[in-house]
Amino acid sequence: MKEYILNKFEDFALAPVILRAVSELGFDKPTPIQEQCIPLALEGHDVMGLAQTGTGKTAAFGLPLSQHLMKVKDRPKAKEARALILAPTRELANQIAENLRAYVHHAHLRVNVVVGGASINVQRQKLGRGTDILVATPGRLMDLVERKAVYLDMVRYLVLDEADQMLDLGFIHVLKEIASMLGEPRQTMLFSATMPTQIKQLSKAFLNNPKTISVSPPGKAADKIAQSVHFIGNRTKADLLKECLAANKDDISLVFCRTKHGSEKLKKHLVERGFKAGSIHGNKSQGQRDRAIREFKSGEIKILVATDVAARGIDISGVSHVYNYDLPEVAENYVHRIGRTARAGRSGEAVAFCSPAEIGLLRAIEKLMGVDIKVASGEMSEQEEKLNIGKKKRVRNRVKKKSDFRGDKRAKQALKGAKEDRPARSKHKKVRRKSSPPNATQGAKPAGSKKSSKPSRKQRLRARANNANKSANKGA
Ligand code: ADP
Ligand code: MG
Repeated sequence: MKEYILNKFEDFALAPVILRAVSELGFDKPTPIQEQCIPLALEGHDVMGLAQTGTGKTAAFGLPLSQHLMKVKDRPKAKEARALILAPTRELANQIAENLRAYVHHAHLRVNVVVGGASINVQRQKLGRGTDILVATPGRLMDLVERKAVYLDMVRYLVLDEADQMLDLGFIHVLKEIASMLGEPRQTMLFSATMPTQIKQLSKAFLNNPKTISVSPPGKAADKIAQSVHFIGNRTKADLLKECLAANKDDISLVFCRTKHGSEKLKKHLVERGFKAGSIHGNKSQGQRDRAIREFKSGEIKILVATDVAARGIDISGVSHVYNYDLPEVAENYVHRIGRTARAGRSGEAVAFCSPAEIGLLRAIEKLMGVDIKVASGEMSEQEEKLNIGKKKRVRNRVKKKSDFRGDKRAKQALKGAKEDRPARSKHKKVRRKSSPPNATQGAKPAGSKKSSKPSRKQRLRARANNANKSANKGA
């Protein structure tokens, strides 16, 4: 690949209005991923960009995208979109839109964002005026497409941010459906900090002869994160956390838990003990989620307890500590979680609490990252390690079935296989559903059973999720 040695934004073929925005943002020189990605993207190549968390991937695709759109002479027509950026969570989509707005501030391009949990009518109205850059979560976008609130056939640029997580969430079907609606020719860019093998399949399905840019080995944490682990029993985790938080009173800490319920319980406990804490997870309304992020950004609260909904992409400057109160079941998520600190060249600390049952998860993380995480306290005897190492598999399997990720209601439906699963809207469809014959393969229930022999919603959802996984693996 051609070597680019461009260490000023002015060296790129970017319009003065974009350069002005870049300088107003205080970006002096491009980060390594920007240095390599911007010229290739400006040349129109499809790009697969892999770089550590917090290294400026948003501008790596956002600036060339803005430049391309500036060159288009006519304005987008009503309901039309010109570029589409897809992200796995609402918070990330909002953040990307905010960044893009800053880049195109002087270029007067229209950026819209559509995410679940916010008024669909307001989004619909905004789309009605035409959009240059549309940032979306897949579920809400599909909803708006089905309602004919937006047409995607004029989209010539597609970006998938945190692409591997979209696969994890089983978005593959929806992504394909969306991709099939876009215009041709199309430039597609795909970004992530980790690259599990499936992403290669994703790239085959969506990218055309892509240029791969890998700035540092995927799976590595930013170099400036000091990592440590406490070996500790589950019951004493809360006490240790309070100790750590009290010792770093002025610090800004993000605490990751495995479940929504666990996050809420821990937050309440911290607040009762006088800590200024908030929480964000799938059981909160979008309003509450947005408020928690706002308060955390403004410093009103210093501690945010979260599930993995906050693990990806979220850029809050000044997060100094990331606590893995529960270790993530998927090792890649550890990389993303701790990547919420040490952003844009800063430093940060990542502290993991590892119970005996979690030792397998810890070892998987160490293997992925190629490091031995420093032990800060406690120990794990060889015997305990042997006893518990097999648990990794069990925990993982359980989680596959019951993900805690509840980012977007529509996305959840999408996860189960797009639109067949949605409640029928027209009367006609309802009637058809009612009169559809019972599924022969499910007919094992005793006759006269009150429930029909149709598979339950849960069964159907599970079957769809399995199908989604299978086809993601095939890359079909
Ligand atoms: P990533 O997507 O790689 O995790 P982001 O795009 O969210 O990272 O950027 C991380 C932070 O770095 C943001 O706060 C962003 O404003 C800042 N940033 C991005 N590019 C530059 C640059 N060239 N110079 C200085 N700061 C930058
Ligand atoms: Mg990002």
